[in-house]
Formats: sequence, structure tokens, C-alpha cells
Amino acid sequence: MSKTKFIFVTGGVASSLGKGIISASVGKLLQARGYSVTIQKLDPYLNIDPGTLNPYEHGECYVTIDGAETDLDLGHYERFLNYPTTQANSVTTGRIYRNVIEKERRGDFLGKTVQIIPHITDEIKRNIKLVSTKEQFDFVITEIGGTVGDIESLPFIEAARQMKWEHEGQCMFVHLTFVPYLAASGELKTKPTQHSVKQLLETGVQPDVLVLRTEKPLSHDIKRKVGLFCNIDSEAVIEARDLDTIYAVPLAMLDEGLDAIILKKFKLKVGETPTLEPWRTFVEKHKNPKQTVQIALVGKYVELSDAYKSIIESFVHAGATLECKVILKMIHSETLTEENVQEQLGDCKGVLVAPGFGSRGVSGKFVAVQYARENNVPFFGICLGMQCAVVEFARNVLGYEQANSTEMNRKTPYPVIDIMEDQKGVLEMGGTMRLGGFPCEIKKRSLTYKIYKTTDIVERHRHRYEFNNKYLEEFEKAGMIATGFNPNTNLVEIMEIPSHPWFVAVQFHPEYRSTVLAPHPLFEAFIGAALAYAKKS
Ligand code: GLN
Repeated sequence: MSKTKFIFVTGGVASSLGKGIISASVGKLLQARGYSVTIQKLDPYLNIDPGTLNPYEHGECYVTIDGAETDLDLGHYERFLNYPTTQANSVTTGRIYRNVIEKERRGDFLGKTVQIIPHITDEIKRNIKLVSTKEQFDFVITEIGGTVGDIESLPFIEAARQMKWEHEGQCMFVHLTFVPYLAASGELKTKPTQHSVKQLLETGVQPDVLVLRTEKPLSHDIKRKVGLFCNIDSEAVIEARDLDTIYAVPLAMLDEGLDAIILKKFKLKVGETPTLEPWRTFVEKHKNPKQTVQIALVGKYVELSDAYKSIIESFVHAGATLECKVILKMIHSETLTEENVQEQLGDCKGVLVAPGFGSRGVSGKFVAVQYARENNVPFFGICLGMQCAVVEFARNVLGYEQANSTEMNRKTPYPVIDIMEDQKGVLEMGGTMRLGGFPCEIKKRSLTYKIYKTTDIVERHRHRYEFNNKYLEEFEKAGMIATGFNPNTNLVEIMEIPSHPWFVAVQFHPEYRSTVLAPHPLFEAFIGAALAYAKKS
């Protein structure tokens, strides 16, 4: 095995403690010290990938540049590390089993009984090492989904245990737990942590570092006590206090010395403490905005902010650059009607229509587009949002009342959005959309060219339907212009209305590319347009 070091991040006591953010923060800190780092997620469910999951189940499906549909934690990894992840960074139990069963069917096991140990665990180990083969990293951080004690994640923990045994000095376990505060007695309770470490010990894993989520500061005594019960020196018991932004977590972990203790345990030189600039400046700007602006996010999963995670974070990144706090007014598209649109959107300085699938809530999206278009409110449509903008224009400007996307009505006489040619024979739903990064050529005389300052971009996609080029001439004559095309297939990727102050609709998902250190220009420009509109109105 190469010199790569592997850090396994497990969680105990409760779910949703922020393993993803802790993993991303450790990655950020090691990166700031000059190491190359990648972060991987092992998800214990049987779906091959989350692409077939409804956002109510697992929040947003994140898409990598190489077209993998992944858990939303990969979005955090990219936003923190400013470095792309790939298919290898996202592994599910389903994928592991599929690989092993395919091998069995091919006869690769030569008549042996195929078992969880060693065959499944071997396949897990192979997948962990795989992240650092094409491109070698100094550190691979592997976040193990679920909570210790779950039946589902046992094979992952077992595989990681074996790796630590087989590659002495190259692997480490960071375990994240929760220390509840009992208001009635005014005490922090460490028993759940002790139990969760015991549970981990039962699987043969001794954690090297403990990270304790807490709402109150942990005294030295508590750290010592936890350390003593869990066989860990108190220096390696790290406090992770609740913070008002996830982006402050790397700074807090630096102060706590999490990265330094990891390096020491690997017997690597700790060296100088990184300043963590320009990250620090970003956090400062994000926390101390000089202005605010309210923007409507119109979608059908608004009660669940995880469904639009990357979009929400893109506003944070771009907002900080402009020292502007973007207040997102989440509008449920199913509740939006012509009668209440003024009331619902009237106080918003920009309207974003979100991506989505299926016809539920789509009529509210048409209402939102029409409102923004007719009232000169900055409009940003993403994927389904772009398709809604096209349908709305066909209905209300071209006069094709029954225009639609064939996703919503297969028999529409005006299929201005239609299924892509290569999607027509597709029967399997998983991993079969147009996925990942595709090139797009931008026309020079366009708003998007001014924003991107280049004609050649690559953006990520996740869809089956597209603009129907049969209608392009009519659209352009009436004032909606295609300004971005895929140079190889001629698919329309960007639509604009030049007579409108800011109307940009894109078939791709710019939000997957926005990071703390590289906010997306479209989001920045959209917020800028909303601020300009606010000044005028
Ligand atoms: N449902 C639309 C399509 O498949 C849009 C997808 C999306 O918004 N991601 O083309």
C-alpha cells in the first residue's frame, strides 16, 4: 500500500451530529498544512446510489463532475476542500454487494462460499483504497455513515478495523459523539459517550481521537474523565461546540488542535499553525454582512432545507463575497397561485425556481416565472426551473396555451421541453440520466458571457428532458434567446431574456460547483442584480 494515511470517522450516540462537517474540517486543516486530501463517504443503505432516492429520504442528491449521483455530504467535502470528488468518493452497501454478486456470477470465487467476511469486507477495503490509486493523496478521510451499533454499518467498521490491523501506523479512528446538557441538574453527561465507545470497542476498534459535540464548554475535568474511561489521552478529547455557521468549524477545530493531534498520532511533524486565510476572511464577511437582500426560492421540498443544500450554500458563498446576507424566503410551489403571488413574492428582490422532477407543484413554478418576467424581478431558473421558464414563455408570450414539457404531459401539442433522444429507450431509473460535467459554449453577446467572462465552461447536469430546438427560432424572435449550447450535441443549456434586467435560466446545476473559495459567478451576479433591483424599487 502507498504512503497514504487513512482516517476513519465514525459516529455514536445520535445521528446528525455533523460527521460530514467534522470530516470536511479535518480535511480542510490538513490541506492548509500542505497535504493533499480527499474525503470519502460510506453509506450503509442498499441503494446503489442515492440517485433513486426522493429528497424527503436523504435530502439533495449531489452530482460529481464524473457523473456520480451521491450523498449530499460530498457537497460539503467539495465546498470545504475546493477540490472535486469522483464516483470513488461515494460508496454504498448496495454498490459493494452488487460488485461481489457480479463476481460470484462470473465464477470469480472458484466455488468458494461467498460471505460477508472476507468477501464483502475485502470489497469494502478495495473501495477505500481505490480513492487514492488514480491520484495519490496524503490523506484519505473515510466517513462511515450511520451510528455505531447499527447492524447496517457493521461490515464497514469491520473492514476499517482490518485495515488498521493490516497497515499499522497508517490508519486512525476519529469518533464523534454527543455530550448532552441536562438543564435540570445543570450538568453535562458523558455516559452516552462512554457507552458508545464501549460499543465501538466491542467491534474491536479503539478510537484514537474523540470529538464531543456539546452546547456548553467542556471542562478539563470532563475531558480527562472521558479520556480515562475510553483509553484516550485527554489531549485527544476534542470539544466541538455548537456554532452559528458550519464554516466556523475548521477554525474551532484548529483552536482545539484536532489536526495537530492527528499528525502527532501519525508521527508526522506538526509544523507551523496555518493562518487559514482566506477562509477566515470569508467567515468574517459571512458573519458581518453590510447589507441584506431577500430572495425567493420556489420549490416543492421547501419544508426540508437539505433538499436544496447546494443552492443554499451557494448563496452563502456568493453572499459573503458581496458582504451581503441573503435571506431565502422558501416558497412552496404548491401553494403559489396567481391570486397570492403578489403577496408571496412582493417582498422578494429576486426569484429562483428550483430543480425538480414530476408535475407536483409545477403550476406554482410557472406563476413564479411569469411574475418575475412581467415585473422585471431578477430571475434565476435552474434545471426544471429553466424548463418552467421556457414553458411559461411559450404559453404566455408565444400564445401556446397548452405548451408543456413532455415530462408533465406526454401528449402536449407544443412539446417545448422534450425527452432527450438518447433517453427514449431508457428503462432503468438508476444512474441513467444525463449526468456530470458537460461543456457549454456561451455566445459573446449575452449576459452570461459578461458574468462568466469566458465562452467555454463546464457545468454539471442531472436531467432527462431538454429544450426542443424545433421552437428555437420562434422563441428568439419573441425575445427569449439561447445563449449557451453544448458544442457536441447542440443542446440548449442557457436561455436569457435580454429585454429583462436579469433573466437567466440554465439547464445545468451551477450550485454543485460553488465552493467557499470559489463562489459561483452566476450566484454572485444574481445577488448583485437583486441588490440593484432593491435599490430601484
Ligand atoms: N425533471 C427534469 C428533467 O429530468 C429536470 C431535472 C432537474 O431539475 N434536475 O429534465
